[in-house]
Amino acid sequence: MILGFLLARAGVEVVVLEKHADFLRDFRGDTIHPSTLELLYELGLLDRFLQRHHQELPQVGVVIDDISVTVADFRHLPVHCKFIALMPQWDFLNFISESAQVYPQFKLHMETEVTDLIIESDRVAGVRAKTPGGIREFRAALTIGADGRHSTVRKQAGFEVIDLGAPIDVLWMRISRQPSDPHQTLGRFRAGKLLVTLDRDDYWQCAYIIPKGGFPAIQQNGLPAFRAGIETVAPFLRGRTAELRDWSDIKLLSVAVDRVRHWSRAGLLCIGDSAHAMSPVGGVGINLAIQDAVAAANILAQPLLRHAPIDAELHRVQERRTFPTRITQGFQVFAHKRFIRPALATKAPIKRLPFLLALFKRFPILRRLPARMIGLGFRPEHIHTPNTNSGR
Ligand SMILES: Cc1cc2nc3c(=O)[nH]c(=O)nc-3n(C[C@H](O)[C@H](O)[C@H](O)COP(=O)(O)OP(=O)(O)OC[C@H]3O[C@@H](n4cnc5c(N)ncnc54)[C@H](O)[C@@H]3O)c2cc1C
Repeated sequence: MILGFLLARAGVEVVVLEKHADFLRDFRGDTIHPSTLELLYELGLLDRFLQRHHQELPQVGVVIDDISVTVADFRHLPVHCKFIALMPQWDFLNFISESAQVYPQFKLHMETEVTDLIIESDRVAGVRAKTPGGIREFRAALTIGADGRHSTVRKQAGFEVIDLGAPIDVLWMRISRQPSDPHQTLGRFRAGKLLVTLDRDDYWQCAYIIPKGGFPAIQQNGLPAFRAGIETVAPFLRGRTAELRDWSDIKLLSVAVDRVRHWSRAGLLCIGDSAHAMSPVGGVGINLAIQDAVAAANILAQPLLRHAPIDAELHRVQERRTFPTRITQGFQVFAHKRFIRPALATKAPIKRLPFLLALFKRFPILRRLPARMIGLGFRPEHIHTPNTNSGR
């Protein structure tokens, strides 16, 4: 959506295809990072964005047993918004698509599911998609795969996937929120249980981390045991877990960390999770996907506008974004191994804080480092594409 917006704003004809009828998908994260807010500032959209309902997190932390530790402090970042904004991603996507639709070059087709690539003389010439009116072909000088971690486009392109492995899955559910509940969005650890709670005003969006493939065993233990587990790790939810009436209230989201060896072939480029699926750890996948989009627009807008041959330019996007992708995935894999897997295996109360967390507690200045990694990421991108038409 962001790449479509930037290209249309620069004057390139764009068609965005979305398989669902709306953006109301439950599995999306809610985090809009300081780097993304800075891009909105550069685009002149920040004020309008901040008028939409959101929450601002200047710091984030975790609670281990009953000890809370702030692990990232965004208040010192060299950007306009020194916080993470929390906004359900469907609201963010609606905001971007509304902003894009003032440009006549931008077209959005909902309920249009890409099923195949059109390949002619070994070059991708567009896609075939299932629409409410039947199968339709969309031909294009360039096709972008931005269809997430189960990408159809990358499969159809035959891209080789390097699987980095993820030892966790996530159970995703809603539990109502009360005014007396704690405010902040926090990761909570206790007795081998790990829960992330996202404040969505009248309810908590809960992400309960489990070992990969562990859901059938949890189901076998029964719903009362599962509810009790949640109440152990988040005692303020006591009594309300009964809102989880049956297993259909709890969605299993499988976590993957992988990347394709080559992000492009003639006529086609993959970006975001389609090129490199991210774990929820650190809440950075949305940021990375958006940064890919900005880099792709910066590199490709001019040749697309000139109708120049594009294939020789595509590898430059991967070249630019490989470093931030590899290093971010490296941290995620490290966090899986060093923190999350041991945390899931530790049933007894902790005797003392893990070394790194103890450092964050003792020396607040150190919290600026994770704030930079999470809030800005590595190699933050800036808008270099023009606003060439009368849209606004
Ligand atoms: C449980 C979980 C929680 C997460 N929480 C966070 C978080 O809080 N913060 C964060 O930064 N990251 C989070 N992540 C990672 C983040 O969700 C991804 O890295 C990010 O969404 C990638 O963005 P994307 O645009 O590449 O793909 P997606 O957000 O997956 O978007 C892909 C889009 O393509 C559409 N689509 C798919 N297939 C087709 C098709 N065939 N035809 C047409 N359209 C199609 C989908 O409907 C979707 O709209 C989380 C991941 C998981 C698994």
